[in-house]
Amino acid sequence: MAEDKRECVKVVIRCRPMSRQETIDNREKIVDMDIQNGLARVRRPGTNDYKDFTFDAVYDETAVQTDFYEHTGYAIVESVMDGYNGTIFAYGQTGTGKTHTMVGPAEPEEDRGVIPRAFGHVFRNVDVGGNRTFLVRASYLEIYNEEIRDLLSKNPKQKLDLKDHPDGGVYVKDLTIMIVKGVRDLQQVMEVGQKNRSVASTLMNNESSRSHSIFTVTVEILEKGLDGQDHVRVGKMNMVDLAGSERQSKTGATGDTLKEATKINMSLSALGNVISALVDSKTSFIPYRDSKLTRLLQDSLGGNTKTVMCACIGPVDYNYDETLSTLRYAHRAKSI
Ligand code: ADP
Ligand code: MG
Repeated sequence: MAEDKRECVKVVIRCRPMSRQETIDNREKIVDMDIQNGLARVRRPGTNDYKDFTFDAVYDETAVQTDFYEHTGYAIVESVMDGYNGTIFAYGQTGTGKTHTMVGPAEPEEDRGVIPRAFGHVFRNVDVGGNRTFLVRASYLEIYNEEIRDLLSKNPKQKLDLKDHPDGGVYVKDLTIMIVKGVRDLQQVMEVGQKNRSVASTLMNNESSRSHSIFTVTVEILEKGLDGQDHVRVGKMNMVDLAGSERQSKTGATGDTLKEATKINMSLSALGNVISALVDSKTSFIPYRDSKLTRLLQDSLGGNTKTVMCACIGPVDYNYDETLSTLRYAHRAKSI
């Protein structure tokens, strides 16, 4: 049982390549990966002091999007098509590759990230069909400052409420749910949502996002059973681009921005607590209710679901503190 629990939660690390600027500046590379053994090593700049962390898998700058998808998103989509839920998270400091991992550039096609790949994967299964028919739906929201906003709404600034279902589970009241007939529809839904995404600038990166975005694809599977009756199952995949995990001191946050940062840290640590409780065979209490993010994803974390947490890091010296803190976060999420 404990073994099963752990198999359902995978924690992986991805280190992006050095940027052009980092190469020009001749920055010191402080991250090394031992892919065979799932080991990430980070060295304190200018010293031989290092710390090792092991994970379910590690990806270095040579890892391509196809390989990453095959080892992470693929299994989630397969189980969603069988009626189970699953979630993939990208965690990390701004600028480390969360959006690259989840979305990626539109061109070239081989650089596309998890979300567009999952779209293709879902509809390849739908087209095969067999004795099953599928209904696919999509929604896209963000959690900003512990407030939920519908990225597909005509009025994306409006705050939506999280409600408890009388028969268990939670839902977002008035959230737009789109019925999608093919990859093009899903792609379009994603583009509309991305245009609406609220982005606030920080000193670190003008595009930096301080909201969590959740793209959800729901698949309803209609299948004739041996008894001749139609059976319906529903699987749901959540693809989450988390807010930047950087500490506010580095980004020069004050006032409202600081308040925002505190809420981000709170919800990221609530998520870490939930994941570590899920992999801890000694704990039966899972603190889902501590944040909107974990409440919302409650039915897609733990139980019969598959979860992948991808922690993204940068390879060079000036990110040492953040890199170490990301590795610690990810490691805590994994270990008992
Ligand atoms: P985040 O979403 O975490 O802020 P981004 O995904 O925007 O970070 O990545 C920052 C920059 O690094 C972008 O220019 C992106 O294209 C590049 N990048 C990130 N990861 C990779 C990767 N694995 N391979 C190539 N470029 C990458
Ligand atoms: Mg991003």
